Amino acid sequence: MILTTGPASHDPTLDFPELALHARPTVRLHPRRGAPGSRDSHLGGPLWWPAAEPWPSCAEHRDVNGRPSGPYPLVAVAQLTAADFPEIRFPDGTDLVQLLWCTDWHDQPHPEGWGQACRLFWRRADDVTDPLGDRPDPGEVEDEDMVPRACVLHPERLTEYPWREELPPGLADRHEAWLAERGLDDDVSTVPGCKLGGSMRWGVTDLPGAMECGECRAPLELFLQLDTYEYDMDAGDRFRPLEERHLDPRSEAGRAAREPTGMTVGRGGHAGLYVCAADPRHPASLFTQ
Ligand SMILES: [Zn+2]
Ligand SMILES: [Zn+2]
Repeated sequence: MILTTGPASHDPTLDFPELALHARPTVRLHPRRGAPGSRDSHLGGPLWWPAAEPWPSCAEHRDVNGRPSGPYPLVAVAQLTAADFPEIRFPDGTDLVQLLWCTDWHDQPHPEGWGQACRLFWRRADDVTDPLGDRPDPGEVEDEDMVPRACVLHPERLTEYPWREELPPGLADRHEAWLAERGLDDDVSTVPGCKLGGSMRWGVTDLPGAMECGECRAPLELFLQLDTYEYDMDAGDRFRPLEERHLDPRSEAGRAAREPTGMTVGRGGHAGLYVCAADPRHPASLFTQ
């Protein structure tokens, strides 16, 4: 299946060149419910996991009100391969990355310990010669909203423009004024939905002052955005794939397309998993909006 984002209201490379210098690539993942294989790229599917390696659990949530109930196994969120996503900067010798997280609340962005609750595993797929058959039963999941349904991915490469606070002073305002004069919407910045790379919208809190790695202080960059909704209900929304525009967003099929993972991220917003620009193996940071 191919899913295609609609045409943008304008093209900064032609219409507003001042912004064009800040273009960034992003990959819309277009997750849709399905049955991915354990070696495939997916959200919420079975991981290609070595049977001999202990399944990770959250060190912080070992007990509830003093009653031992954990440790909670982490939940599989995403698995991405180098073959499907050559734009990922895989550390040398690796070609598979897996994201697992604790479904319970952790303070943000990354106090000590968060590194244990939201983890990226970088592997070489061929090193897993004896894969785990069944992933462990997560048992009592603290927050079902944080568990993605199994989805296959239909990647689409787009160019987008960054969140206003990541641009030079005044540029976002000039872009906005230019759009307002023409009665256009900004549908080229901070693409919504699940995506790889690019820039996240910080509409709830401002962009934190210091976006740097907790381990080495290198800048953080957006690795993966996870979103409650892939696009708006509005029929004219550019981000409603052309192939799905016949679906009523209120129908079951429409809801499955618009909210494929079934997760409620943040308070119905989105989350960005950021990694260290110098070494993606340093502990990742999650920010919700
Ligand atoms: Zn936890
Ligand atoms: Zn670092």
